[in-house]
Amino acid sequence: MNAVISSLDRNYRLCDTRITDSEIILYITSTLEKLCCPYCETMTGRVHSYHTREIQDLPISDRKTILIVTTRKMKCINPECRHSTFAERHPFVNPNAQKTNRLIERILKTSSEMSSVCSSRLLKNENIIIGKSSICTLLKKNTSDRR
Ligand SMILES: [Zn+2]
Repeated sequence: MNAVISSLDRNYRLCDTRITDSEIILYITSTLEKLCCPYCETMTGRVHSYHTREIQDLPISDRKTILIVTTRKMKCINPECRHSTFAERHPFVNPNAQKTNRLIERILKTSSEMSSVCSSRLLKNENIIIGKSSICTLLKKNTSDRR
């Protein structure tokens, strides 16, 4: 499982694993002590609070795979910065997304070759759970990003 996490990003480590008949749940956390404020680019190690994000990743051994990612809310130490806090960003997922970038790539690749109804069904067989309408939204977003 450590290899799965290092292939995601080398600055993350696996804290715990839970395996059921249908799911693999990996608890991961960043090893970086300091993060860069996205607004003023000052490095800070002051943590305001912690929460977790639940993010679906590529299936492992045909099981639906969920990452539980520790996410920090950091305090910016720059008194001139207009933002006192900021949320930790993870390089493998967009700020508000619930799926990793590599999972989204897989979904887009599958759905580029068939209808969203078929791809939703096919992906479900691979234990990638996504509805037909979410596929349509992803496809639309991806087309507009490329323009
Ligand atoms: Zn700042």
